[in-house]
Amino acid sequence: MTGRIFVLIGPSGVGKTTLAEKAQSDGIADRIITCTTRTPRPHEIPNRDYYFLTLEEFGNRVDNGEFVENEWIHGQRYGVLVRELSRALESGRTALISLGYGGAERVKSLWPHNVTIVGILPPSSDSLRSRLKERGTAAEEMAFRLRAIDHEAETVKKLADIFFVNDELGDAYHRLRQVIAKGPSSHRIADH
Ligand code: ADP
Repeated sequence: MTGRIFVLIGPSGVGKTTLAEKAQSDGIADRIITCTTRTPRPHEIPNRDYYFLTLEEFGNRVDNGEFVENEWIHGQRYGVLVRELSRALESGRTALISLGYGGAERVKSLWPHNVTIVGILPPSSDSLRSRLKERGTAAEEMAFRLRAIDHEAETVKKLADIFFVNDELGDAYHRLRQVIAKGPSSHRIADH
């Protein structure tokens, strides 16, 4: 298998989506199509933007263990299929996806030599606070997220093959490009 998957992990609001979308729109890495139970928005094309599933179909796939990760967001289900990732690897693609910690761990254990976990850390809790605020996060949720941040930073460092701080976006993007150019299983696997 010649494909590679780069998995971005990090606290909510740290810039994973921003970095991933930039890399995808620059053609550096492919997007993995995810599943959702929400209805398509007018501009969205099924099977290109998302796999749109009914609640029942989604539930069956969860029961069959087909997802590496799935979650509820605003009353809708979202998930990443194992099959989508294995297809990307089999066809030799370079893919980039943002996952939660459990999902990242699972993907790494499935294909340890093709997967690189890239940890993204915030420069300080002050900057994370202002980014969350910018995104319209409620005060209560913000306090909760900020308390979790120190603990999360430890998790990120433990799981990631490589990690860096997203302070200036251009710099962080440059680091991400370097990691992707260098290839899978950067340094840590070699150390074991
Ligand atoms: P995540 O996907 O990790 O939850 P997002 O990519 O959605 O985070 O980013 C959260 C917010 O922070 C967005 O409004 C985004 O534009 C902004 N942002 C991301 N990176 C930076 C950066 N380096 N400097 C300033 N703002 C940033």
